[in-house]
Amino acid sequence: MNKMRRKLVVGNWKMHGSHKANAELLAGIVEARPFGCDVAVCVPFPYLSETAVTLAASDVRWGAQDCSAHEQGAYTGEVSVGMLHEFGCRYVIVGHSERRAYHGETDQLVADKAKAALARGITPIVCVGETLEQREAGETEAVVKRQLSAVIHTLGHCAGEMVVAYEPVWAIGTGRTASPEQAQAVHAVLRAQLRAATARADEMQILYGGSVKPDNATVLFTQADIDGGLIGGAALKAKDFVAICRAA
Ligand code: PGA
Repeated sequence: MNKMRRKLVVGNWKMHGSHKANAELLAGIVEARPFGCDVAVCVPFPYLSETAVTLAASDVRWGAQDCSAHEQGAYTGEVSVGMLHEFGCRYVIVGHSERRAYHGETDQLVADKAKAALARGITPIVCVGETLEQREAGETEAVVKRQLSAVIHTLGHCAGEMVVAYEPVWAIGTGRTASPEQAQAVHAVLRAQLRAATARADEMQILYGGSVKPDNATVLFTQADIDGGLIGGAALKAKDFVAICRAA
């Protein structure tokens, strides 16, 4: 276990939830504390308020799954980091592959969102990851480095304050996890890239995401450069999410 870094497990609920389901899920997480790692849930915008109320007295943190790069203005449908700040968000996921793929988010837009988040004291969880086609073409390293490079350049001296999440697109929601060795290899590349950019690289959390389940979490989380996980499907059941938090 790396003594410089505390593990972090983040639930990415994606577009799932209801008042009833959220109450049960959050109660299940709160009851299972304490965990030996940092734990957070990133919920859909409409549920931030109830999540903040439910988790206020606990050490479980909360956040959003996206934000605008703009402070305010005529951006119909967008949510600013200032608004997220009002709901006590500690984290915001930026550049998830689903946003990149379905909403055409570019590396630079992702970087601008990360910068906007940090300006309000919200930690961006910056997602990077290659598609299956890119992996098979031997482009994994080049792709994740390009994605991270845009963020490093835009954040400048604040780069050490982000959380990075490596999420191979082919492993997301597919039940096909990267092997611990495959994941570690990419995490090591990302760590090296961070070291060249910030003196804080060895303290930074690099999460793995993509079909993390209770039965594969431990082996992933014991890799040298894997500092926790960004959890999709398995974050929707308290039992599974809690088991993953305990594995960290
Ligand atoms: P998954 O999703 O755990 O369902 O694969 C992870 C993510 O997309 O963040």
